[in-house]
Amino acid sequence: MAPVARPDHIRSHNLALLLGHLHRHGEQTRAALTQSLGMSRSTIGALVGDLTALGLVEEIVPIGGAGVGRPSHYVVPHHQGPISFGVDVDPPAVVVAATGIGGSLLSRVEVALEGDVDHIAPESVVDAIARGVALAWEQGRPTAVPCGMGVSVPGTIDRRTGQIDDAPNLGWRDVDLRALVAERLDSPSTIMLGNDADLALLAEHRRGSLRGCSDAVFIMGRRGVGAGIMTDGRALHGRSGHAGEIGHNTIDPGGPPCHCGNRGCLEVYVGEAAMLALAGRDEPVTRSAIETLFADARAGAESALAGVTGVVDPLARAIAALHNTLSPERVVLGGSLAGVVELLPEELTAAVAGYCFDLRGDPGLVAPELGLDSALLGAAELGFAGLLADPLSSASRRR
Ligand SMILES: [Zn+2]
Repeated sequence: MAPVARPDHIRSHNLALLLGHLHRHGEQTRAALTQSLGMSRSTIGALVGDLTALGLVEEIVPIGGAGVGRPSHYVVPHHQGPISFGVDVDPPAVVVAATGIGGSLLSRVEVALEGDVDHIAPESVVDAIARGVALAWEQGRPTAVPCGMGVSVPGTIDRRTGQIDDAPNLGWRDVDLRALVAERLDSPSTIMLGNDADLALLAEHRRGSLRGCSDAVFIMGRRGVGAGIMTDGRALHGRSGHAGEIGHNTIDPGGPPCHCGNRGCLEVYVGEAAMLALAGRDEPVTRSAIETLFADARAGAESALAGVTGVVDPLARAIAALHNTLSPERVVLGGSLAGVVELLPEELTAAVAGYCFDLRGDPGLVAPELGLDSALLGAAELGFAGLLADPLSSASRRR
């Protein structure tokens, strides 16, 4: 016998649909919601009433909205509604954001990591996360109850256990960061981990340069290099959840050593350390070192330009391999690689086209619309997953 949908199941399903729609598309009138969701006016009215009672949405009349007749009320995320924390572990810093339903950025704080960033203790990162969360909460919406937290890490994550399998640029293997953070924060809200490139892809797809795009790649180029991949509108994880680790594809087995233990990996040629070395700058990889490099390159300094130009060829070959394999509509270059496509768009596009087997048209190379915060905001999206899936029980748990 087919299962019968009970009225409370239908209600909770519809609440999730409505809240998810507002989260993704922003404020709407009841009339627009009626049309977009294909529900009756009375159903929308009842659902908006339920979400209002749960403290998740409210209705406002826009200032200056009084035209002919009665002004339309807009359904908007509640100004004191729950928040999600996004955390981006990006040595030598940990960045934390507090965001509201609808993706609004309420606060953003950076906490510097002390010591050798190539071998940083998980406890130091956990301390930085705890400090960042406290500050972001206070600066963002101190009265709000958190509904969850997402943490972006530069490494591979076991999808079954949620453990970090391997984060070569942190020197970590088999680290249960989620458990460490949960213990430190003593927080009942859900904590989820994601790979930085995967989360950057998620955020750009939801709110940035990949809106409406169903076949795409996000290449994250920081200290390490990795890719988030979407095919037919679905994120590609692979059997182990490790899909997209293109930074460790071997370019030259006799090349320089990589943090992963192999030699001549792609990230040795296009990562941030490579750019500084190609520019003849013998200094540690920091955000300010990279920003100075790109500022100098934009100003026409020859050695800085050599650092950026030097990554074009190996990067183009990697992008062409992705085009030949996946045929994406768009390829977002994030982290420091955004600077490469911004500074040398024609050179990079021509090099990719030259290496592609059958590229018809533009290879679709773009910089992220969310700038350096794609992974951070993707992490914050993870923190909303529980609330969006089931607003009713999630909201009542928070009370
Ligand atoms: Zn490697």
